[in-house]
Amino acid sequence: MSHPTQLPRVELPPKLEMSLLAGHPWVFREQLPARLPPSGWVSVRAGKYEGVGLLEAESALALRLYSWSRVPNEAWFRERFAFAWDSRQRVRDAGTTGFRWINGEGDGIPGVIVDHYAGFAVIVCDTTSLEPLLPEMARALMATTSLNGVVFRRRDAERGQRLSTLLGETPPPKVVIEEHGIKMLVDLYHGQKTGLFLDHRENRREFGTWAKGLRVLNLFSYTGGFSLHAACAGAASVVSVDSAPEAAVDARENFVLNGLDPNRHEFVVADVFEYLAAAQNSGERFDLIVCDPPSFARNAKHLDKAKAAYVRCNAAGMRVLAPKGVYAAASCTARITPADFLNTVSTASAKARRVFQVRYEGGQAVDHPYRAIHPEGRYLKFVLGHVLERW
Ligand code: SAH
Repeated sequence: MSHPTQLPRVELPPKLEMSLLAGHPWVFREQLPARLPPSGWVSVRAGKYEGVGLLEAESALALRLYSWSRVPNEAWFRERFAFAWDSRQRVRDAGTTGFRWINGEGDGIPGVIVDHYAGFAVIVCDTTSLEPLLPEMARALMATTSLNGVVFRRRDAERGQRLSTLLGETPPPKVVIEEHGIKMLVDLYHGQKTGLFLDHRENRREFGTWAKGLRVLNLFSYTGGFSLHAACAGAASVVSVDSAPEAAVDARENFVLNGLDPNRHEFVVADVFEYLAAAQNSGERFDLIVCDPPSFARNAKHLDKAKAAYVRCNAAGMRVLAPKGVYAAASCTARITPADFLNTVSTASAKARRVFQVRYEGGQAVDHPYRAIHPEGRYLKFVLGHVLERW
């Protein structure tokens, strides 16, 4: 059943018309009629809006919208993948070999992420109801450009069983990608997300430009992305702190890969809160700090707790910043809006008896587009600036 006129129909409240016409990709269960067809492809109408969506009647996020007129098939995926590939030409022209090829909703394929790591495409799906489409997706990816292989990474599987090869070669244990002239190891099998946090690429570069000659601290460092940009830009020393031991091992290897002497730097496996408490007591100070914590906000109920955690870790971070130091803060959850984020950062500075003077504001890199009508897609916030002592 591929023609939309043959699909079961879902009639939506006309008040959704404008946001759907503007490309909002989601409808929640409470906005849908009580009686629904079985889960699967449906044709959707709301006033003048008509489209094709994937219904998951049992989920809170019950309807994802894909097309104005067609049920996604291999040809449809090829069109989406080709435009998305071409729209990242400038990223590749800059020598970047690790980038997001498909950013789900932002690229018109709700629930589907495809990251490209040095010739390997890694697909991740937000919901299992998309998994039957994996063969079409893999073929369409292969047809778009020359690739070594296409793999599927399961979100919640046991470690080590997450990755299955759909087409082409099975990836080696680690691949090396490059961003802004810096090499980074990627573990597609065990790494976080699909392997790297590609969204911070421009923020890492900006951070590096402030680092020359300074004592640098990277909080929640993962495999050392911010650390590498700082060290390659001539930082005097870089301390990377993360609670994951395997991230510290990869960070050290990344330093070697970039011709840096890892013994001139520190790779600390510790809880950031404990590390900062100890650093404050011992009087250790840094001139340039980045704090990029995990989301902290698992759902709406945890939002206040998450904001409090952001305030707490940034206040602790700012307390170990030397006078005239530069501080960068990030938040990767869409639940915290850009305004909320500035609020947590300024509250943190007040607690540290300082004033945050923003000099650079960043977000997710250009290969992570979001739709103007869909603020949920705009998740990454980043500010960098001096944190002034009281004058
Ligand atoms: N800035 C990194 C990405 C950070 S992701 C980059 O550019 O690649 C967040 C990291 O925080 C993860 O590596 C996770 O292991 C680590 N983490 C989570 N909670 C932590 C804690 N309480 N203390 C230290 N590290 C933590």
